Amino acid sequence: MYDDTIHILQLSHLKDKIEHLDIRVESNQLIAEIRLKQITDVCPTCTSSAVSFHEYKYHKIIHSISTGQSCILHYHHRRYRCQTCGKTFGEYNPFVQKYSNIGHYTRLSVLDYLKDFNHTFTDTANLYHISIQSAIDIFDQAVDAKRRVLPEVICIDEVFTNKMNRYKYACILLDFKASKIIDVISTRHKNYLIEYFSRIPKAEKDQVKVFVMDMWESYREAIKLTFPNTLIAIDSFHIIRTLNDVVKVIRIRTQNKYRLNKSSPEHDDMYYYMLKKFHYFLVKNYENIFDGKIRIAKYNTYWHKSEILDYLLSIDEDLKSAYRLKERYREFNLTAEYETCDDELDSLIYEFRNHKLLELRTFGKTIEHWRIEIKNSFLVFNKRRVSNGPIESTNSKIKTIIKTANGIRKFTRFRNRVMYSINKDIPIKNK
Ligand SMILES: [Zn+2]
Repeated sequence: MYDDTIHILQLSHLKDKIEHLDIRVESNQLIAEIRLKQITDVCPTCTSSAVSFHEYKYHKIIHSISTGQSCILHYHHRRYRCQTCGKTFGEYNPFVQKYSNIGHYTRLSVLDYLKDFNHTFTDTANLYHISIQSAIDIFDQAVDAKRRVLPEVICIDEVFTNKMNRYKYACILLDFKASKIIDVISTRHKNYLIEYFSRIPKAEKDQVKVFVMDMWESYREAIKLTFPNTLIAIDSFHIIRTLNDVVKVIRIRTQNKYRLNKSSPEHDDMYYYMLKKFHYFLVKNYENIFDGKIRIAKYNTYWHKSEILDYLLSIDEDLKSAYRLKERYREFNLTAEYETCDDELDSLIYEFRNHKLLELRTFGKTIEHWRIEIKNSFLVFNKRRVSNGPIESTNSKIKTIIKTANGIRKFTRFRNRVMYSINKDIPIKNK
């Protein structure tokens, strides 16, 4: 019976040291009176072993063993008086840190609970019967995440941090292979990044083979300057998204030409309807579009996707030409290889740069400007093409932390919280 109580209270590790234990329920709180066995101690001041019992001091310690009910340890803390120097001192207290009323067990439970990025400080406080500030203090005292060693392939991207930071965007460095966050930097400003990277030893930086990024000039400049031997690759999904946005602009312009307007000679309601309703045909991968009968409500009929696409492309020559060139780029992006991609890449740049539509010419300028980095996007490590894919899922977790972030107003806490609950392997500081 007594052993069971010790077990339920999660105090098995102190089993041989407990002299007295008694539990009761008092106004819906579980209270455990506890006293430890007397051991022969020496005076911490003069190391004399001539010590005698002085008094019991009464400690109330929050000991949240179950999340449903609050539990308090009433610890009768024995104090001694030294016969030699006259000083008094307390026996070793295995339940709490000095000056705290929250037990080690509760502390560890709180830290474990905070490992899940969905759990807020408020949830934690409610669950473990402590104040929100206590939950925050426990976290701040225990977690101080260090930057990880730089790996071979680094993804760099930003995340919108709004109120928890002086700067609008924080910069995330991620290990492409291990999908672990290397660091969270408070801003993506070029000069700050240059300073940050300059502080890292050269030998460590020399290990980095590739940086993967969006087409963001500050990143490229900062990395070129601080990692002279590292290649830069553009995330290919980012290029495709940019190109799809260009096609979207052209589609909307075309669509609006046919908007219901009696004075327009080009008025044709069906063109407008179809371009608006099936807008995704122009940007989505054709093979991912539903391969069956698709209902066209306004005309109460069903068409196959091939008929719909043919119809959309028959509306306007410019739109058709933009779509075809976009598809050619998409095909290139899917099938090209690093060693052999040069000719087709140059031919694509030429086609875009000389297209009659301004938006496509602008896109052509962009890919010409980033030509080397686009070629590098075909590099393969461990059979995986480099990309910023791993950072997408990390960023969505970070956004969850930000969305529910009461209690995270300090950037260092935000950074620690992100690294602690996403990497899962940040050590807890010993106390
Ligand atoms: Zn003494």
